[in-house]
Amino acid sequence: MKIKYIPLLLALLLMLTGCGQRVPEQTSQIFAMDTVMDFYAVGDGAEDVLVEAAQEINRLEALLSRTRQGSEVYILNETGSAALSQETAQLLRDALTYAEITGGAFDITVAPLVDAWDIHGDDPRVPDDAEIAGLLTLVGSGHLHLTDGSAALDAGCAIDLGGIAKGYASDVVARLYRERGIQGGWISLGGNVYAHGTKPDGSLWNVAIRDPNDPAATAAMVQLSNEFAVTSGGYQRYFTAADGTVYQHILDPKTGRPAESDLLSVTIVAKNGTLADAYSTALYVMGEAEAVSFQSAHRAEFDMVLITADSRILYTPGLAGRISCQEGGRYELCALS
Ligand code: ADP
Ligand code: MG
Repeated sequence: MKIKYIPLLLALLLMLTGCGQRVPEQTSQIFAMDTVMDFYAVGDGAEDVLVEAAQEINRLEALLSRTRQGSEVYILNETGSAALSQETAQLLRDALTYAEITGGAFDITVAPLVDAWDIHGDDPRVPDDAEIAGLLTLVGSGHLHLTDGSAALDAGCAIDLGGIAKGYASDVVARLYRERGIQGGWISLGGNVYAHGTKPDGSLWNVAIRDPNDPAATAAMVQLSNEFAVTSGGYQRYFTAADGTVYQHILDPKTGRPAESDLLSVTIVAKNGTLADAYSTALYVMGEAEAVSFQSAHRAEFDMVLITADSRILYTPGLAGRISCQEGGRYELCALS
């Protein structure tokens, strides 16, 4: 019985490897933008494209980092104004657009609050109500003024691109993969995934969505090709106060406090990595009901997977047939209409 299958298997293997020729493939890992980034590329030029990808990420970090002295964002925050490259200016315009579309759930001007809470910094703390009220007066898109080639901030205000920079970086690397004619591969920038082309056998890439209750495990798998999947959740970056309260790192720009979401994570699947990053943060802040109605109003732009605190995994129609979760596991998979 078994012998019958061997020639078929061999033939298949030869097909996959181009009649015995090895298809080049390359992996790499870097640490940048405060996270581990992994890259995988298959096809001619795979090695070169990963070198270029790392260079591009480093270039973007040098423009967009809040903490790197001399970056455009650093100068803007420190001095209240800065000349901007076209690229940074465009990203800030996009960030303002996403702030408007999401009704301020995503807002890069939350920076003074991010600093006060310092949730993933060295000195996390719980600011008191008066301090939060004072800092809230510094939050809002109206405090950031963009003109041709420069930006200015009102006194005391600052911007933080932590909720969007990795998404933008994933767009840049995805473009690189396309321009260099890379056959297939993926990138993972700390939770921001881009799946390029298909696997060598022509099937879609499987992207794991982590289990927020057990981040070493997988809650669901989605199959993707030429799409981004960006996840935001409260389970990765947080601190536990002396009284045991857990404070996670996504802030609600309306309350000035960590969002008290009924969602454990939001994964946005889209053709645009920047949008996916901004929306994943925003929809986590919104919570289930608002996220579902927001997606209905923007369904041409993106699909999503919501993991709720009461153990449901909700997915939008565009993911039908390409999402799965472990049967009999903790979560119930539910289709949204
Ligand atoms: P991660 O960067 O861990 O992938 P997100 O994309 O959701 O997660 O971004 C969260 C980061 O963005 C925070 O660590 C903070 O720097 C910043 N941030 C927090 N709350 C908001 C918000 N409501 N809008 C925009 N940026 C935010
Ligand atoms: Mg984000």
